[in-house]
Amino acid sequence: MKIGVLALQGAVTEHIVSIEKTGAQGLPIKRAEQLEEIEGLIIPGGESTTIGKLMRKYGFIEAIRDFAGQGKPVFGTCAGMIVLAKRIDGGEPAHLELMDITVARNAFGRQRESFECDLEVKGISEPVRAVFIRAPLIKEVGPDVDVLTVYKDEIVTARQGNLLVSSFHPELTDDYRLHQYFADMVEYSAAANQ
Ligand code: GLN
Repeated sequence: MKIGVLALQGAVTEHIVSIEKTGAQGLPIKRAEQLEEIEGLIIPGGESTTIGKLMRKYGFIEAIRDFAGQGKPVFGTCAGMIVLAKRIDGGEPAHLELMDITVARNAFGRQRESFECDLEVKGISEPVRAVFIRAPLIKEVGPDVDVLTVYKDEIVTARQGNLLVSSFHPELTDDYRLHQYFADMVEYSAAANQ
């Protein structure tokens, strides 16, 4: 099974290492045509305005909408979550507009720019180590969105069908269970599409 990581900007290598721990093959995706080679896609953290700009420049907006439209799973972490959202708080234009959530960027305030903690994720038995770096949070969710993690009353992990998002960086620890959760989504959708 092949899982790609959008490799325009941001934390790409770390995601590939975590994907490979699940037993799947991880591939950096630099051109939209490469989406045909993979069964699932991760959009990494980084800077969402930059990633959005590069996605437009290299034809990824329509290509990823099409990929997700075929039921193939997409996982957005941190900036990747912002890029997947239908709405960005404050009125900034959204990017892929795929997931029915409103996100707020840099939502944890200055003193808390970066921090770590252990969080319960629905569907994973023991708490997951979460690293937050200038992280966004989810302010609103639509009716089809399943909330997987709440941290201090704020939603930080959620799923809508084949779309998964987290405010934190699961690729920056040795704990690859969120990648395993995603790999299981990919395996399930690949089996259903055969
Ligand atoms: N603050 C970044 C943004 O708004 C996201 C930070 C991250 O991906 N670590 O795009």
